[in-house]
Amino acid sequence: MKIVLKFSQRIMQNPLIADVVLETGVRINIDRAFVDASVGEIVVDVPDEDVEKVAAAFRLRGVEVHEMVTPIRFEEAECIQCGACVSVCPLEVFSRNEDGSISMDLKRCVLCRTCITMCPHGALRAEEE
Ligand code: SF4
Ligand code: SF4
Repeated sequence: MKIVLKFSQRIMQNPLIADVVLETGVRINIDRAFVDASVGEIVVDVPDEDVEKVAAAFRLRGVEVHEMVTPIRFEEAECIQCGACVSVCPLEVFSRNEDGSISMDLKRCVLCRTCITMCPHGALRAEEE
């Protein structure tokens, strides 16, 4: 399962991921990371059975933890089947069906938001995290 970690500049200098891996013994895969001078947001993939343990370890360190259940909402009625999302998604979430319609495999999404920016017809948006 993918979870979203948000943290402030105050705790950014700590080796958060390494500490949690060492404490829990759980292998954590980093899917996406955004860090600037004031905030950090990281999407990590954690085995389903270990999510609670890992989330608790991050929260103890002052990290905000959200489950990323359905990251992108697809408004099919707005889709003009241009294929831009198929081209730009780095995780190949989108595919085109034989009839030209678009399918999504949302388990792969890391919420980079590239498809939302590139969609010319407002058919894609982020769910609340
Ligand atoms: S946000 Fe869009 S472009 Fe980024 S991984 Fe998810 S589906 Fe692909
Ligand atoms: S970019 Fe938007 S309009 Fe184009 S195929 Fe994808 S969802 Fe449809």
